[in-house]
Amino acid sequence: MSEHHPAPSGEPVVSSGEAAASSGQHADSSQGHTVSSADSITVRVPAKVNVQLAVGGARPDGFHDLANVFLAVGLYDEVTATPLPPGADTDVPRITVSGPDARLVPADRSNLAARAAELLAARHGLRPAVHLHIVKDIPVAGGMAGGSADGAAALVACDALWGTGATREELLGICAELGSDVPFSLVGGAALGRGRGELLTPLEVGGTFHWVFAVADGGLSTPAVYREFDRLHEGRAVPAPEPSEGLLAALRAGGADALAAALSNDLQPAALSLRPALAGTLEAGAAGGALASLVSGSGPTTAFLAKDRGAADAVARALEASGTCRAVRVAEGPVPGARVV
Ligand code: ATP
Repeated sequence: MSEHHPAPSGEPVVSSGEAAASSGQHADSSQGHTVSSADSITVRVPAKVNVQLAVGGARPDGFHDLANVFLAVGLYDEVTATPLPPGADTDVPRITVSGPDARLVPADRSNLAARAAELLAARHGLRPAVHLHIVKDIPVAGGMAGGSADGAAALVACDALWGTGATREELLGICAELGSDVPFSLVGGAALGRGRGELLTPLEVGGTFHWVFAVADGGLSTPAVYREFDRLHEGRAVPAPEPSEGLLAALRAGGADALAAALSNDLQPAALSLRPALAGTLEAGAAGGALASLVSGSGPTTAFLAKDRGAADAVARALEASGTCRAVRVAEGPVPGARVV
């Protein structure tokens, strides 16, 4: 995901002139299927932070092999799926977005929520006749997998709305087709991602970790950060990425000090190279008492691990006072993945 798709400003951002259906009975007998649903389905889905992001050299397909340890954290988007009213164009999902950064989110078919609905519908011989409303709270283009989260949430919501009864394996397969981080948004908790990050092994976590996130002004394009990673490693052999045993042990034990000592992100030098000001944010969080500071995924959101909730609040206050970021959020992890609420 690399581009920003400007959408009309204001809230909610609406993709077409039609009024939104709030709920209602909808029958779609196209292609011989009848879908009948009276209710909207709302799915809540968390953001992620990478507690380890080990990156290998560029593969022939342009992707990078990863050892990617994901932790789902309690910053959430919500996606509500509602049947389209009779007479609406039933070939394309309708997307609306609300929230402070709604204008940065594409409200067309490139939205991962729309693509998820289209893929599920196509597999089950249905029309993607759904209105998906996204309440956006995960920073956009912030390295916290917000778009991936909406893709996973839309899939769960449409599966429930249409009664497709897709198996977990089918949903995970569609997620992997949508993007490398999407399967983890479905699963949540903590997991090791191999391959591009989509081959998941769930991980045991022995406690709750307290995080502070500093949201930067503007986003960073994930492909641009990988290109910078490649540039910084030009002419050097990049070792095969491996999960850190120390990190996995720290997660199992649930101790913040041990996890802080083991956090790592191979994309951090590339993100700092593209956005040198992030160094000031990392320093401000460390000075505020964070056990460890790192760039979240491809950035530019920065993540700070704190000893407990009180320490997290103190780090948050220090970051707010530093003037080095646009917004500060406190969240705990692990939390479950995409769930109907
Ligand atoms: P990741 O951590 O998975 O690399 P990210 O958190 O850095 O991703 P996203 O918030 O997922 O970045 O957004 C990246 C781009 O994806 C956006 O600039 C936008 O153009 C596009 N996009 C598509 N669908 C969505 C969506 N539902 N929400 C946000 N962005 C979306």
